[in-house]
Amino acid sequence: MNSDNLLALGRLVDQRHLQPALGWRRGFENRLSHLLSQRRLPEQGWSEPELELLIRELALLDMNNANSGSCIGVGEREGRVVCPLVYRRHFGLAHGIGRSGDVTAGQPKAAGSSVINSLTNSLLGDWLRQFGCPKAAKCAVLIPVATGMALCLCLLSLRSSRPSNAKLVLWPRIDQKSCFKAIITAGFTPVPIEPLLDGDQLVTDVTAVRSLIEQHGPDSIVAVMTTTSCFAPRVPDRLADVAKLCAEFGLPHIVNNAYGVQASRCMNLINDASTKGRLDLFVQSCDKNLLVPVGGAVIAGPDAAVVSRVAATYPGRASASPSTDALLTLLHLGRSGFARLLDQRAAAYTRLRDGLASLAGRHSDCVRLLDTGKNPISLALCLRGSGSSSGGSDPGRLGAALFRRGCSGARVVAGDDKRVSIEGYEFQGYGAHQTAYPFAPYLNAAAGLGMSETEVDSFLVVLDSLLTKEFRQREIDSHVADADEQGDNDYSKDQLTEDLG
Ligand SMILES: *Cc1c(COP(=O)(O)O)cnc(C)c1O
Repeated sequence: MNSDNLLALGRLVDQRHLQPALGWRRGFENRLSHLLSQRRLPEQGWSEPELELLIRELALLDMNNANSGSCIGVGEREGRVVCPLVYRRHFGLAHGIGRSGDVTAGQPKAAGSSVINSLTNSLLGDWLRQFGCPKAAKCAVLIPVATGMALCLCLLSLRSSRPSNAKLVLWPRIDQKSCFKAIITAGFTPVPIEPLLDGDQLVTDVTAVRSLIEQHGPDSIVAVMTTTSCFAPRVPDRLADVAKLCAEFGLPHIVNNAYGVQASRCMNLINDASTKGRLDLFVQSCDKNLLVPVGGAVIAGPDAAVVSRVAATYPGRASASPSTDALLTLLHLGRSGFARLLDQRAAAYTRLRDGLASLAGRHSDCVRLLDTGKNPISLALCLRGSGSSSGGSDPGRLGAALFRRGCSGARVVAGDDKRVSIEGYEFQGYGAHQTAYPFAPYLNAAAGLGMSETEVDSFLVVLDSLLTKEFRQREIDSHVADADEQGDNDYSKDQLTEDLG
């Protein structure tokens, strides 16, 4: 209702009774006009009724919603939705985003969806700039695919600007399959670069990056792809050093910042790299950084033309859902809401790290907390302590036991010398980011965005009880082994378990 109609209501009810609603409405209109003129992340989050009103109004700009009665669809893509539940799930936003040639282009039939797409991209750029990348995030676009596929599109968008024989992607090794497959799917050849051991941590071998560039020649290389957020004991790559090499040799530099927006350290590395050297594009996941369902990735960079080329590489239209989810979430949180989430996450990390350290102190015979202070999100607990030989028990059992007790996301890395083949490439010690990481097996746990104190505490309680059992199991195993050696087999393992249990 516009303000004239709202005032006209005063003829139907006592004018004074309308005051609260009129005040709310004025506030909403002010926030909306501020949003549309600034296209920046608001300081304070919006309420649910405000979000609902906004999305309904925008949906009514699409022809399949407002004009559906008088709409004469004679095309093959008319935004028709037959199931009412599906229609409601999308607020009637059925046309998607983009046109045949460009995922950022507006659609004549869907002004509302187009507004959502463009407004979301503006807010995402502002979000990245406000949270650590004032220089690197000149421009951002949401592509409705997850991170691996978005990295693939970034690589493909570079093809036309590289020499025709450029096929190699230099890639400091990170044992995560989707970013590796992004290179393969783009039709390029990955050149994994083993990390260096620095204390317990795995860091970028910058010297190897340089010698590989010199060995193969810059013209045979499409790009260098580095990573910020990763599982400990690997730590974020030395982005500025790699960026300087990329500037020196004229090579594109893509950064996999999968869940890096949640840690200022990752964002600072990106911004720093873009000021000290060359950084073309950095990619982050919507679900990991914004707490929305899986489906979108944000591609950003310091040069708007380079970012736009990625959007133009995407063939055809795309789902509007990830943009709608991101828009509503950014407005729901506001700058202050996201800052609160970051603070909460940092506190969860400290709590988890300190909790694991004290637990490791209590179980020092079977575990040790690895010193991976440069990784701001993920922690690793070496499953070998001072007292034991690590033999006897299977580390994978601990991962399975954690899962059975409701802990998801914890992962046990065996790091043995077994070879794993991915798309025809052989990796030794797969999972540990290095051929022979000396402190495997280990257990990973991460403090991700949205993690609560209760989750940290419950995880520590479960892990503590499992390690206590584990210790007992090792005693049992060694008793049995002794008994076997002595040829004394009639004292069965089960009996012993009962005795000790
Ligand atoms: C999540 C993640 C990816 C991408 O996975 P998607 O399922 O494609 O989002 C890539 N690299 C790292 C380090 C990740 O954490």
